[in-house]
Amino acid sequence: MSYFSYKNGVLHAENVALTAISQQFGSPTYVYSKAALTANFLAYANACKQHSRQADGALICYSVKSNSNLAVLQLLNQLGSGFDIVSGGELLRVIAAGGDPSKVIFSGVGKSREEMRLALSHDILCFNVESVPELHRLNEVAGAMGKRAAISLRVNPDVDAKTHPYISTGLKENKFGVAYDEALSCYRTAAALPYIDVAGIDCHIGSQLLDDAPMLEALDKLIELVDQLASEGIHLHHLDIGGGIGITYDDEQPVVIGDYLGRLFARINAWREEKYQGAPIKVMFEPGRSIVGNAGILLTEVQYLKHSEAKNFAVVDAAMNDLMRPALYEAWHGVQTVSQRSTAPQVYDVVGPVCESGDWLARCRSLAIEAGDLLALMSAGAYGMTMSSNYNTRGRAAEVMVDGTQVHLIRQRENPADLFTLESLISP
Ligand SMILES: *Cc1c(COP(=O)(O)O)cnc(C)c1O
Repeated sequence: MSYFSYKNGVLHAENVALTAISQQFGSPTYVYSKAALTANFLAYANACKQHSRQADGALICYSVKSNSNLAVLQLLNQLGSGFDIVSGGELLRVIAAGGDPSKVIFSGVGKSREEMRLALSHDILCFNVESVPELHRLNEVAGAMGKRAAISLRVNPDVDAKTHPYISTGLKENKFGVAYDEALSCYRTAAALPYIDVAGIDCHIGSQLLDDAPMLEALDKLIELVDQLASEGIHLHHLDIGGGIGITYDDEQPVVIGDYLGRLFARINAWREEKYQGAPIKVMFEPGRSIVGNAGILLTEVQYLKHSEAKNFAVVDAAMNDLMRPALYEAWHGVQTVSQRSTAPQVYDVVGPVCESGDWLARCRSLAIEAGDLLALMSAGAYGMTMSSNYNTRGRAAEVMVDGTQVHLIRQRENPADLFTLESLISP
């Protein structure tokens, strides 16, 4: 079901016309649907409830970097989500949104001492450690604070996620995690460190995965390690399979969340039964895109139509600084006209005002449009606003959350003067 649909020829977010949002808040504006976010989170939560052996046998840690607006985090927290963070800043956001640090896991290859101290002072659930030097640093920082750090090792299972090279993370040549062959020795090192508690194992093999076969392959490799560790007396309490499930941007057909979790839990439950007399292991997930991606659009207004011999351009008021995915990955986003016209469509490249040839949002789209019309760039909820920048001294877009017939402004449009308040002139 889509939460963005036409009613009387006008595209709506839930029950609010996007034309009304543009009148009230201007453009470009990110528009999120609360009902879509809720439904996407519940797809995970309900499948966990259905398949997990005990009441708290699973924890969904929403990947904050996919969309870190406080109101989004607040909603997910209310729904019972934990959080996967990749910086100290994201931890402060989770706390500001009312989230519970005891449900926070900290991923990322470059955690600073300061970030470790911040996370330890808030007693987060677990550090997803990505290297041996990080393990030593964490041990040292925790020791100096008189604390112990719970850790999981991010293992690189060396499986091919078959996705875009920039968003594939589980192959040997990626910078992420510890190599599969070195995982055992890293765990032995961790187990011997005085201020480290070995708690779990994790992986995250890539993003926008349409098929769950690579995740199930990765799961088997993690299971093998858990068994080897158990035989050495290192017993893990949780297994975190990461995020990565894809969404439909165009005509992709990603695996259904409930089906994927059903297969995953079937494998895990059978394994625990066979090897551990049914003793459970907590199962964790780190979904981002599959929760927010299709819960948001970017609303933009056509400024000019340019017709040249080779191409037609629709110059809009959103740009690569607002939505970077096309420029960065040649990502495809659907483009829908907010008000439908009966005139004959023409083929356009939808481009922004930024001074870069890479500043395009969509190419070769058949659109019936005129200057002043509104367009919706679809599936923009994940890695949209969070990847935005101020390039060309453009203030970031506003963000709103629609809930039925209500619209909440959840981030004000940035005012250009705000952008240089931290800068100083040099006194003569
Ligand atoms: C980005 C990221 C995720 C989320 O990935 P999605 O493809 O958005 O689900 C999960 N875990 C880690 C470690 C990540 O870096």
